[in-house]
Amino acid sequence: MSELLAVTREVFDEVMVPNYAPAKIIPVRGEGSRVWDQEGREYVDFAGGIAVNGLGHCHPKLVEALKTQGEKLWHLSNVMTNEPALRLAKKLVAATFADKVYFCNSGAEANEAALKLARRYAIEKFGAHKTQIIAFHQGFHGRTFFTVSVGGQAAYSDGFGPKPADITHVAYNDLAELAAVISDNTCAVVMEPLQGEGGIIRPTDEFAKGVRELCDKHNALLIYDEVQSGVGRTGDLFAYMGLGVTPDILTSAKALGGGFPIGAMLTTTDIASHLKVGTHGSTYGGNPLACAVAEAVIDVVNTPEVLNGIKQREQLFREGIEAINAKYHCFSEVRGKGLLLGAVLNDDYKGRSRDFLLASIDQGLMALVAGTNVVRFAPSLVIPEADIKEGLVRFEKAVAQVVNA
Ligand SMILES: *Cc1c(COP(=O)(O)O)cnc(C)c1O
Repeated sequence: MSELLAVTREVFDEVMVPNYAPAKIIPVRGEGSRVWDQEGREYVDFAGGIAVNGLGHCHPKLVEALKTQGEKLWHLSNVMTNEPALRLAKKLVAATFADKVYFCNSGAEANEAALKLARRYAIEKFGAHKTQIIAFHQGFHGRTFFTVSVGGQAAYSDGFGPKPADITHVAYNDLAELAAVISDNTCAVVMEPLQGEGGIIRPTDEFAKGVRELCDKHNALLIYDEVQSGVGRTGDLFAYMGLGVTPDILTSAKALGGGFPIGAMLTTTDIASHLKVGTHGSTYGGNPLACAVAEAVIDVVNTPEVLNGIKQREQLFREGIEAINAKYHCFSEVRGKGLLLGAVLNDDYKGRSRDFLLASIDQGLMALVAGTNVVRFAPSLVIPEADIKEGLVRFEKAVAQVVNA
C-alpha cells in the first residue's frame, strides 16, 4: 500500500474553497459517542455530525451492512433498480403514512424533489396559477437555489441573482399570518415540524393542526421537512407522529444514512403519480450502498428499545443543563424535543453561542450551535448514560471557561 500523504488543518486553507470555517482539530476515528483527533485527544460527541450520526460512530450493524454490500454491488444508476433500495422503500412505506418513496443523496435534494413535485401536482391538477409556496422565517431546507430561497433566511439566499419566484415567508407559530396569505393560489406550505437550524423551535399543537386545516381548505400540499427531526430524533420515528398531523410529502436525510449520504422523499400514490418517467431524477439516488446502510439504520432505530430510550436520555440532558445553569446563569431555557435540544442563551450572553462551542472543543466536547443564541445538542440516540454524564461534566467546564473569561 502507498504511504498516505500527511495533512494538517492548514491544508484546508491552502486547497479548500473557503465556504466553511472548520475547527482547529482534525478528527480521525470515532466509536459510539467518542471521537479521537490526529493528536489522539478524545472527545465526547453531543453533535453527531449535525444530527446525522443517529447511532453514533461506526455502529456495528451499520459497519456490517456497509461491508456486506460493499463486496456485492456498489452502483447501477436508475437504469436498473436494486434490492437494498426496494427493501428500504418497503420499510419506510410500512413505517409511515407514505405509499411511495423517491431516493436522492441529501436533504436539499429531497426538498428540491418535494418542491418540484408539489408544483407539478398543483399545476396539473388545478392550473398554472397555483404556484405559491409558503415557508417560515428561520426555516432551513438546504442550499440548492430553490431550497435556499424557500428557506427563511435571506442571508443564505441573497447575492446569487434572480431567485425562483412565488415564495412567501411568514412567522412560525403564527397561524393568523399564515391564514392571511394562504389562498387557492397556494401550491404548498413547507415546514419543519421542529425548526432545527432556526433555533430549535417547536410548533404549538394548535399551530401544527391549524396549518394542516388551512392547507386542506385551499388544496395546498403540506410538506414536512424532517431532514433534521426525523429518524428517531424526537423520540418518534418521525416528528409528525408525535404531533398527530400527517403531511402530504415528507423529506428525510441526515440521520437516515447514519453518516452515509442519502435522502428520501415520501408521499402518497396520488401525489407521486405526478412525477412521471423523465420528470425528475438523480444519478446516485437509491444507490445500493447508501440504501443498505439506511436499511440497517431503520432496522435499529425503529424499535421500542431505541425509541423508548430517547426520553430518559432527554431527561438526563435537561437536568444536567439546568444544574449547570443553576451555577452559572447563562441560559434562559432548554427547549426542543427528544435528543434535539437547544440551550438558549440569556441576554447576558446574547449572540455568543459560538464561544460556547469553541470552549466545548477545548474541554473535549463536540456541541453545535443553532444560530447565534442557541447551543444545540444532537447526540447519538443510543448514547450511553456514562457518556452523557461525562459530556455534561465537560460542558460545565466549557460554560465556566466562557463565563469566567
Ligand atoms: C440539514 C437540513 C437540510 C439540508 O440537508 P443537506 O443534506 O445539507 O442538503 C434541509 N432541511 C433541514 C431541516 C435540515 O436540517
